[in-house]
Amino acid sequence: MMTLTHCRRLDDADLLRPLRAHFHIPPDTIYLDGNSLGLMPLTAPARAAQVVQQEWANGLTRSWNAAGWFDLPQRLGARIAALIGANADEVVAADTTSVNLFKVLSAAIRIAQHASPQRRVIVSERSNFPTDLYIAQGLCQTHGCTLELVEADGVLQALRPDVAVLMLTHVNYRTGAMHDMAALSAAAHAAGALVVWDLAHSAGAVPVDLHGADADFAVGCGYKYLNGGPGAPAFLWAHPRHSARTDLPFMQALSGWWGHAAPFAFDMGYRPAPGINQFLCGTQPIVSLTLLECGLDVFDAAQPLGGMTAIRHKSLALTDLFIALVEERCAGFGLGLATPRTHAERGSQVSLTLDSDAENSAGYAVVQALIARGVIGDFRAGDGKAQPDLLRFGFTPLYIGFEDIWHAVEQLRDVLHTGAWRAPQWRQKNAVT
Ligand SMILES: *Cc1c(COP(=O)(O)O)cnc(C)c1O
Repeated sequence: MMTLTHCRRLDDADLLRPLRAHFHIPPDTIYLDGNSLGLMPLTAPARAAQVVQQEWANGLTRSWNAAGWFDLPQRLGARIAALIGANADEVVAADTTSVNLFKVLSAAIRIAQHASPQRRVIVSERSNFPTDLYIAQGLCQTHGCTLELVEADGVLQALRPDVAVLMLTHVNYRTGAMHDMAALSAAAHAAGALVVWDLAHSAGAVPVDLHGADADFAVGCGYKYLNGGPGAPAFLWAHPRHSARTDLPFMQALSGWWGHAAPFAFDMGYRPAPGINQFLCGTQPIVSLTLLECGLDVFDAAQPLGGMTAIRHKSLALTDLFIALVEERCAGFGLGLATPRTHAERGSQVSLTLDSDAENSAGYAVVQALIARGVIGDFRAGDGKAQPDLLRFGFTPLYIGFEDIWHAVEQLRDVLHTGAWRAPQWRQKNAVT
């Protein structure tokens, strides 16, 4: 039997424990939603004030150079690169995940079709994050391609000779299931296709080795496990074998001036910047970029404590503990596990199904009742068919402790045991779930 004392001992032995002090944790809150929006680093308010009240108010245009505004995408990109197995000059922080996916997917389609015009299929996973599928659907319209959606275990069979690009999210946003990036990248290449990875639920949560996997392109999110703040700029990586090409000047479909070889020459004609810089488009949200820097600072503090290896070790210990406690303390209430038990197949979240003989949206109501008690997870609706409703709990090892998990599961147990979730107010649907 697991006990609270046991959980406290795990906290005492946790080498990453000091990192929690870098974040604002709201009172009486156990925050298991860092896979949706990470906590605020304590340095963020003063940094925002400095950027607004000094760099903007007094520095004005001088700050593009003097405060280092202009090369923030590259400087932050270099720091993100260290978390994802890329070289420092191969990543930029910019725009949103959706926009960056548009850029790299359009590039991948152009590259694939330049080599073999008959490649007209994009393969992805049916339960991929919808925005990824929407972006792919749009690009299929303009490039005369079709989008083929398969189940996770059907990817290999789908890699036929007409496939241009395999586009996958490394860790599934619904279930937390993690793909084998190296194996699938190799399979895509063996079939003559390129591979694009979305790291929205990986960067800062699990070790990623883009070069080790020999991937082609990647994008990822700044406001989830990187703790960059709401709407924080995302990031983008291109393998240098692509970004160094000079024979496809409009490889990047959003050919804006920040991606120009000489933006301040104000030439009439577009010439792409060499390397990753050509994947920039226009002026960046500088305040948001500087806040992302506060999130990345915590990863610097994690480095001497073991970095991503230690983060992964703790993440698995946290999710293992959560699964074990749910199965022990909440048995008999119809909860099921949607997340793989196998470590190599699990990201940093645990998703539960609820088979309550059951009213519709029971899972939604349980999550709302938990949130009212300060245990913040979220709910992802199923499709009424193969995909069940999910209660989703994210575990950010930088700030979640083992005792937190004990209390979160005790609240879940109480909500189910007392039937508190049946109260009508927990059925009210908000715009953001
Ligand atoms: C969170 C997430 C996004 C978010 O895209 P935005 O453009 O930032 O809204 C995209 N893809 C995946 C897989 C995500 O998990």
